[in-house]
Amino acid sequence: MATNGPLGRKLRMGIVGGGQGSFIGRVHVTAAVLDNRATLVAGAFSSDAARSKASAADYDVPAGRAYGSYTEMFERERWLPEGERIDFVSIATPNHMHFPVAKAALAAGFHVVCDKPLTLTLAEAEELARLVDASRSVFVVTHNYTGYPLVRQAREMILGGELGEIQAVRAEYIQGWLRTRLESEGQKQAAWRTDPARSGAAGCFGDIGTHAYNLGRSMTGLLPDTISAHLKVFVPDRPLDDYGHAVIRYANGALGTVTASQISHGRENDLRIQIDGTLGSLEWRQEEPNQMLVRHNGKPHFLYTRDPNAPFTNDAGRAACRLPSGHPEAFFEAFANVYRAGFDAMAAAITGGSFERVDTIYPNVRDGVEGMYFIEQSVASSNADGAWLPLKHPLARR
Ligand code: NAD
Repeated sequence: MATNGPLGRKLRMGIVGGGQGSFIGRVHVTAAVLDNRATLVAGAFSSDAARSKASAADYDVPAGRAYGSYTEMFERERWLPEGERIDFVSIATPNHMHFPVAKAALAAGFHVVCDKPLTLTLAEAEELARLVDASRSVFVVTHNYTGYPLVRQAREMILGGELGEIQAVRAEYIQGWLRTRLESEGQKQAAWRTDPARSGAAGCFGDIGTHAYNLGRSMTGLLPDTISAHLKVFVPDRPLDDYGHAVIRYANGALGTVTASQISHGRENDLRIQIDGTLGSLEWRQEEPNQMLVRHNGKPHFLYTRDPNAPFTNDAGRAACRLPSGHPEAFFEAFANVYRAGFDAMAAAITGGSFERVDTIYPNVRDGVEGMYFIEQSVASSNADGAWLPLKHPLARR
């Protein structure tokens, strides 16, 4: 394989968001370049044109390709010679800008990597899915926790039946940074996350509850059936939830729970999942991602470590590792695994080949739609005092 992957050249990336003082845009760029398969060549880094141009130097993007807006970037880039223009766009803006930017990127013929939650509303997400289906574009949604080697290992173990039939999924994502009303102190990340116009129908449940739900769905492959949720606003004068529980009934009879909090003192980024099957159970935590516990009654607990050379590591786990055992891999590498799978599909699309569009290794637009359905049904159920509502969306994978 050529160093730049099957395409034999680097993919050219444009980013929307990631300007000075922002969080996840820099992670996108770092993850995209980790395997030497992409390079950032253009950006509309900020909603403020001057700040966008000022941010370009931080990424070694030439001033001529630092644009004042995403519309200007797409309009200028689409007419550049084929060997120069961007191949794909990464969207790292607050939620309300995902839909207009993604729609415009698809219309300009670019591939898209979009952060979660997919859009502001379910209707927008469904429209995006239709546009993606009608295009030749690859569409990746960065539910990045699916990229961890031991998460991929667990998924292959579960789908292969090693835990038997899955009967219970407990996913929780616990943070504490919004314990106080940080949004009133000029903290930008808190401000848009607690504003319905920029965040969407949910706060905490949209921001991190969707990740927890997606992780359970991705690791087990179980199809959801119905949901009952209770969301709470504990910090006074905050318009969106900062805590919540949901119970999910899966089609096979399994029960799932999602708990998400942004008000738990001292808790940092504790995404944790526990899965119970008839033959065994497993547990994985994002804050200790290179270990996973697998348990069977009457046997010692098995502590799996991230080890590409160990006989207990399966193909999916091995393929997601870059370093030998004992060298911790974490957030950047998992994010890069999502990018890498997307790049394989983009290379196929660019060379006229066929590529999987539904059952992809990377989270795709359908997972994004499912995430938006999870958000909207959680809010609706909570508003109806926990009423059971449907959760099986027609666009769900399988
Ligand atoms: P942020 O506030 O730190 O950064 C947002 C950036 O987008 C800023 O640079 C801002 O100027 C820019 N922006 C806003 N409107 C724009 C526009 N019209 N054109 C160009 N740039 C624009 O936010 P963040 O914490 O980085 O979150 C961004 C997105 O990523 C959100 O959707 C969030 O849910 C998601 N996120 C995902 C993860 C993950 O693990 N996958 C982690 C954090 C955030």
